[in-house]
Amino acid sequence: MTEQPEEEGEDLAERKMRFLFALRSKGVTEARVLSAMEAVDRGPFVRGLFAERAYEDMPLPIACGQTISQPSIVGLMTQALAVGPRDTVLEIGTGSGYQAAVLSQIARRVYTIDRHRRLVREASALFDRLGLPNIVAIAGDGTRGLPDQAPFDRIIVTAAAEDPPGPLLSQLKIGGIMVLPVGQSDTVQSLIRVTRTETGLNYEELRPVRFVPLVEGMASD
Ligand code: SAH
Repeated sequence: MTEQPEEEGEDLAERKMRFLFALRSKGVTEARVLSAMEAVDRGPFVRGLFAERAYEDMPLPIACGQTISQPSIVGLMTQALAVGPRDTVLEIGTGSGYQAAVLSQIARRVYTIDRHRRLVREASALFDRLGLPNIVAIAGDGTRGLPDQAPFDRIIVTAAAEDPPGPLLSQLKIGGIMVLPVGQSDTVQSLIRVTRTETGLNYEELRPVRFVPLVEGMASD
């Protein structure tokens, strides 16, 4: 045995500890969310030049001009979604697949949609490789939701729309919760939580955030 791999191993463990510490200090405090984020290594979801920074609490560029969200935002959104083990979750905006992978540790099943076929292909391959069989990744326009599998217990949108898309609101179960950023891209966006009750919809504003825009229609790649 050489010393090198051991040193690298220690370094990685240390970086992962700091990663979890940063999450806690930013308000990700629920045990099941922290365990999910401890179980899912963010490393494989970040490629190329930025792989080095996978354990830093920052958004990073991924393929197709998109971004993998900041880990603390992934944690806070997962917490706000109040996901339980019997829930079926719909995610709009697969991106790297990281948010879906975190959700897959807590939910019964996760459907995730992206308008970039390449991102869906790469995320699916990663879910297979990491052994996450309860995630189904689909190429499609998420603004329409997924009528075939609706209604959903939980819906999470990881791209910003001006308003919550109507089809998504109508695919939420009674008692269901949707968490999404709203507002114009590159200006101030708010993370909001929408709860469907027997009689209508409740809206809560959670915090300011910044996401890439939700774009209607499929991308060319
Ligand atoms: N949740 C991701 C980050 C997503 S970035 C992660 O954990 O890495 C936002 C993603 O939303 C991008 O990949 C973008 O392609 C996707 N997106 C934007 N508009 C969309 C739409 N109408 N339907 C589906 N996906 C969309």
